[in-house]
Amino acid sequence: MAVFDQIFIAGAWQPASGKSLALINPDTEAQEAQLVCASPDQCAEAVAAARRAFDAGWGQSDLATRRAALERVITQIEARAEKLAQTISTEIGAPIDFARKGQVAAGLAHLRATLGALDGLVEDRPLTSHPEHRLRYEPLGVAALITPWNWPLNQVALKLGGALAAGCCMVLKPSELSSRTALVLAEAMAAADLPPGVFNLITGAGDIGAALVQNRDVDIVSFTGSTRTGRFIAAEAAQNMTRTVLELGGKSPNILFEDCDLPLAITQGLAHCFRNAGQSCNAASRMLVARDIYERAIALATEGAAQTRVDRPAQPGAHIGPQINWQQYARVQGYMSQGIAEGARLIAGGPGRPDHLDHGFYSRPTVFADVTPDMAIFTDEIFGPVLTMTPFDSEEEAIALANQTEYGLAGYIQTADPARADRVARALRVGMVQINGQSRENGAPFGGRGLSGYGREAGVFGIRAFQDAKSISGAALQL
Ligand code: ADP
Repeated sequence: MAVFDQIFIAGAWQPASGKSLALINPDTEAQEAQLVCASPDQCAEAVAAARRAFDAGWGQSDLATRRAALERVITQIEARAEKLAQTISTEIGAPIDFARKGQVAAGLAHLRATLGALDGLVEDRPLTSHPEHRLRYEPLGVAALITPWNWPLNQVALKLGGALAAGCCMVLKPSELSSRTALVLAEAMAAADLPPGVFNLITGAGDIGAALVQNRDVDIVSFTGSTRTGRFIAAEAAQNMTRTVLELGGKSPNILFEDCDLPLAITQGLAHCFRNAGQSCNAASRMLVARDIYERAIALATEGAAQTRVDRPAQPGAHIGPQINWQQYARVQGYMSQGIAEGARLIAGGPGRPDHLDHGFYSRPTVFADVTPDMAIFTDEIFGPVLTMTPFDSEEEAIALANQTEYGLAGYIQTADPARADRVARALRVGMVQINGQSRENGAPFGGRGLSGYGREAGVFGIRAFQDAKSISGAALQL
């Protein structure tokens, strides 16, 4: 059985000496590998290496140096794109074509957007018309990057690109469920010829993540994951006043007004909910539908969900794969049963595996209609292919329902009326709005409000998140 026991500290690979974890294949349900985690001492060693690299010069590096470094990183990741896609597919069960065109492509696109954002960046500029009153952006120092498993390259790329471009040194602690992808990424980083210690990778579960957050030499924690862990990190980081960027869960509304292109809205709406087997923080998981088109929408959604293919990760084509592990599968199944028990109308899917798959953590693409705000399937992030549908009678009611959540990550609007689209977009308490299926530009700020966390990733926002503003008065910039 394959054993993954390497970590990368101060420019060199070394064996991890912490505890071992079994890695289960979500398609076969069998243990296929073992992960040896970093020890708490190795966690401290990685932070110390990052601190040394920062103090030794990376913290003072100029934009051109950082830009060239990021370019080399992108080249090295591109050279490993297929290996990354294969690893993601095996590790989290992502269908191979989606791993290539969705997962890996998104990670690379975000890195390129960060590179583009560096071009227009000004690090030191006059604050007023007086050249001796200046605003200078400086890297915060050592960045801890703690990432989840559902977009295992992309989530790392968003953080890594921003941290590197900002001038920080970093310690990456990926999810224990997706460390193999991070290890391939670390191969790319090792080949990118960065000063030793600028990038470090340690493996481990929540205990190692916590050790990283508690380390006083960490200046910023950039975290993506569950709201539960986000709360813990915010509280722990507060002890040292360590900065945090938290990208957490979501329960995003998708509002379909009566004038939308309904067949298209349903097709896209299902795809936005089911993609990645529903395991995306910005999944459009609550569909709110104007009463006039509600029954038609239900008929189309029933048909569309039934046509959504579920299949094994190695199969080519557009389909969805399994949930990542037994716990997630059981959780998703539990919500399906709860939806039925709470009286929602099951119009597609439901508990159990798809008939043609006799093993693996596969869920059936599921849609519930007549879902009301008091139901758990309306309020809770399920992280599986489960869509809820709720009718509304007015724009005001649509907005109220959309905002009736503690989360605030994304919102989706479908309407032919640009004035209404704009009004509703402004009224949604979320960080990102997509109208009529228009996806975000790469480099547009990514993040949310409420229990979805705070701070922004990607592009200029993602770079500034790793920097601090310093005001300098009394001396003009010396070129
Ligand atoms: P998910 O359920 O999406 O995996 P988690 O919040 O459990 O989300 O995990 C996201 C990341 O946070 C993983 O890298 C995980 O190891 C890490 N993690 C989990 N618990 C803690 C903790 N208490 N402190 C720091 N990191 C943690």
